[in-house]
Amino acid sequence: MTPLPPREDLARVDPRRGLCPECSFVRQVVSAKGSVFWMCEKARENERFPRYPVQPRLVCEGFERRGPQVQ
Ligand code: SF4
Repeated sequence: MTPLPPREDLARVDPRRGLCPECSFVRQVVSAKGSVFWMCEKARENERFPRYPVQPRLVCEGFERRGPQVQ
């Protein structure tokens, strides 16, 4: 079974945005047309993580909340 993020993180996640925008392993990619994608840096080292996770991702075993500079 996939471990869940800490309960307090689940309680604070906005279901419209999901976990990725708050995660320390994400990188925001903007296309030439202005579309915004969330790229998961964990995908480089672990094939279980999709490079571009379907959004919003509400559960993820790799989630680690990053600092207050959230976008
Ligand atoms: S580790 Fe999970 S929550 Fe973090 S960016 Fe990757 S897919 Fe999103």
